[in-house]
Amino acid sequence: MPSSRNRRSRTAATLLTVTLAAALFGGTPAMAKPGGAPIAAPGTATGDDRREVEVFGEDGGISRARVPGASPYTVSPHAQGVAPLQGDGDVTALVRNGDPAAKLDVVVIGDGYAAQEQDKFRADAAEKWSEITAVEPYATYRKLFNVWAVSAVSPESGVSGDPDQTTVRHTALGSYFWCDGVERLLCVDEKAVEGYAAKAPQADLVLVVANSAKYGGAGYNDVKSPLGYEGIATVAGGNAKSGQIAVHETGHSLGKLADEYAYDGQGTYQGAEPAEANISTLTADRMRAQGTKWSRWLGQASPDGGTVGAYEGGGYYPAGLYRPTENSIMRSLGREFNLPGREAMIAGFYRHATPLTSPTATGTWLTAADRLTVDLPVAGTRLRWYLDGREVPGLRGRTAVDLADLRPTGPRSRPHLLTAVATDPTPAVADPALRQKLTGSLSWLVTS
Ligand SMILES: [Zn+2]
Repeated sequence: MPSSRNRRSRTAATLLTVTLAAALFGGTPAMAKPGGAPIAAPGTATGDDRREVEVFGEDGGISRARVPGASPYTVSPHAQGVAPLQGDGDVTALVRNGDPAAKLDVVVIGDGYAAQEQDKFRADAAEKWSEITAVEPYATYRKLFNVWAVSAVSPESGVSGDPDQTTVRHTALGSYFWCDGVERLLCVDEKAVEGYAAKAPQADLVLVVANSAKYGGAGYNDVKSPLGYEGIATVAGGNAKSGQIAVHETGHSLGKLADEYAYDGQGTYQGAEPAEANISTLTADRMRAQGTKWSRWLGQASPDGGTVGAYEGGGYYPAGLYRPTENSIMRSLGREFNLPGREAMIAGFYRHATPLTSPTATGTWLTAADRLTVDLPVAGTRLRWYLDGREVPGLRGRTAVDLADLRPTGPRSRPHLLTAVATDPTPAVADPALRQKLTGSLSWLVTS
């Protein structure tokens, strides 16, 4: 992720000035900012608890704002230690592909859904997951994921700022449109989100779905929760375009990708080579000569259109930084990831999930009478079996093995080590260092 030094936008700089002025003269930032008045309440926003979030326009454009981490409207029973409403905190598996330890676990939390609307919440959550998995590489890798729906029961239906700026609703997570004075910016209370996310078996990704059909959302990519998730995306449950917001946000949290958009007034980037895989100070020629960043993809046709090259502008700077393609989803919503982005996403999926699982726990002692099965969640995955370190070629690709067929040699008293190794050979990952993450292995002990 970009450093906080580099990621500040003009909006943020303006707000910082407003925040300082407010602190000096006794007002609050929201009161001082024209158009933001009815939403942030006095005393809730200070310079310390504000963070950068991304704002997503309906036309696909992306920008940034600084917003409070807390909501002025939070009434979460969990966050406030009050007895929960009926059904509050219930967890449902929307998609269960396996053990959370071997899968990427998405936690979807609803806000603004009253007790009698929890079925609607689960339907909206499932719809958002369909929107996300329509985009590659999610479509190909969907079996690496579990999706948990956590019911946050709200006292009132709907969220603040919908339909208009003066509407206030008391909800479990305090979601509100018109955050920072921007209608489509849907902010949430981070602490309340964390309280509900903790209910799920594991949280690698967190998505907040608001009970609203109005277009909007936000990307919180500064979040580092002790639960392990690194970002929150908020989306409107009843709006078909808002799932794209979550896809972009996971480009940061899973892919560790930089934004590929720029601000006109940001000038020329003067810093060191950024860490992210999809922005660089190097032109295509220099990148090819150095063999770094996305040099392996240069000249190839990219799924987002055009060929991979070095297009000037990205990482918020219109000059001095280059991006791989003209317009990927890291620059505009409604687009595909480009080739370097797709590669980074797949590597990110495998940081949380494994290409090989089995219903039989590793370390289990097996005998010749047993039948062992394994699962390969991703189509095309290669599977090999090894007995005491030597491959058993006849078992290549077999996901069910009768151990009687192994006929291990050696003293009967000695156990044998049986290992399955799975590798995803996808051509979408070209970097040798990343390719190493696409392998998983499991071992068992077999007695003759
Ligand atoms: Zn972004």
